[in-house]
Amino acid sequence: MNGRHNQIFMRRIISVLYLLTIQVLLHAQNECRQTDYILQSKLVSPPYNTVTAAANTLNIVARDIVIPVVVHIISNGSTDFVTNEQVYAQIDALNRDYNAANGDRLKTPSYFLGRVANCGIRFELAKVDPGGNLSTGIVRRKTAVQAFALDDKVKFNDRGGDDAWPRDHYLNIWVCPLISAISGYASVPGAREELDGVVINESVFGITNRNGINSLGRVAVHEIGHWLGLKHIWGDGYCGDDGIDDTPQQKSYHKGCPSGLVTSCGSDPGGDMYMNYMDLTDDACRYMFTEGQKKKMLGLFEPGQARFPLLSSGALSAPGNPIDALWGNKDLKQGSVANIGLSPVPATTSLRVELLETGTVPGSRLLVYNIVGQPLLSVPVTGKVVQIDISTLKSGQYLLKVENSGVPASKFIKL
Ligand SMILES: [Zn+2]
Repeated sequence: MNGRHNQIFMRRIISVLYLLTIQVLLHAQNECRQTDYILQSKLVSPPYNTVTAAANTLNIVARDIVIPVVVHIISNGSTDFVTNEQVYAQIDALNRDYNAANGDRLKTPSYFLGRVANCGIRFELAKVDPGGNLSTGIVRRKTAVQAFALDDKVKFNDRGGDDAWPRDHYLNIWVCPLISAISGYASVPGAREELDGVVINESVFGITNRNGINSLGRVAVHEIGHWLGLKHIWGDGYCGDDGIDDTPQQKSYHKGCPSGLVTSCGSDPGGDMYMNYMDLTDDACRYMFTEGQKKKMLGLFEPGQARFPLLSSGALSAPGNPIDALWGNKDLKQGSVANIGLSPVPATTSLRVELLETGTVPGSRLLVYNIVGQPLLSVPVTGKVVQIDISTLKSGQYLLKVENSGVPASKFIKL
């Protein structure tokens, strides 16, 4: 008898513990898993370090920064959890916080108030898809996947998700069910193109979601901060460094809603900046980027930097020309395509095109497009080697296609 009573007692304890664990998980929903994601996927290619290092030293030129957005909503329910209204609300929230239009920024402690930045970055849903067709900027897909993880399956059609749109023209946001406690994660500048973008748990996307502590759309604000090169405010280490001058060192992340002076590493008389978007505090308790963070983010929009191509995206223009002639040929490498050889790389005044196979016939033409698909040059194919005069082209990236050939377009760079 005693043994049985003990068993029942133990079972009760276990179920109470189980319930407590569930509670903790629910309350711990605000988990940005950026560090795990980066460590796991090793997706940063070498240029990342040079890109970010260079970005820090640039003088920022004032310019109008508008980021076209595509939201991929991956749903496994019979009805979509995330409505279009939630998408609009999320975009509004991004514009609010990236333009210091959030009233709660005035709650910033006086010591830090002078550091609050208006980043001047706007977000807008795309108006055309990569093929140049009219789009709402919202793509919906059904999936059999119960919950996605940090493995990026959500970014591929054939793995239950949805393929990225070209990152030179769009910010990709995937909204999906994520395994417990992950609120989101982001690729950092320099990631592989097909992985570029941010992933947000459907339960914390938008502003009136199921999760009370993330009801202001600030998980996306935070993740896009990573996508724009920001690290966590605690530098992902004990009193770590986030590489930003005007954010104090702090011991670790904060959860919930701290108040008053909290000092952990003693580096700044103002204490920890737990109200920064790059901490993990509740949405209602984080409400500022600093001038230093702004400078870091805007640096990525300078020529040659990771987000510069977005400034000439065609994603917000009228339907018509393809946004990206490489769409559908994402595996292409610059200057080397199935059966065309291009040289030199990069080219200056003349581009040598070698037709390596007989997929083309005399009489067809070589067409040169700019990156938004406008035709610029048309040169007849006269033999296996064609020399194209590109001296009239401005410096930049171009696409070359063999007319009526089925040969995929090839990218080249004119210096
Ligand atoms: Zn994070």
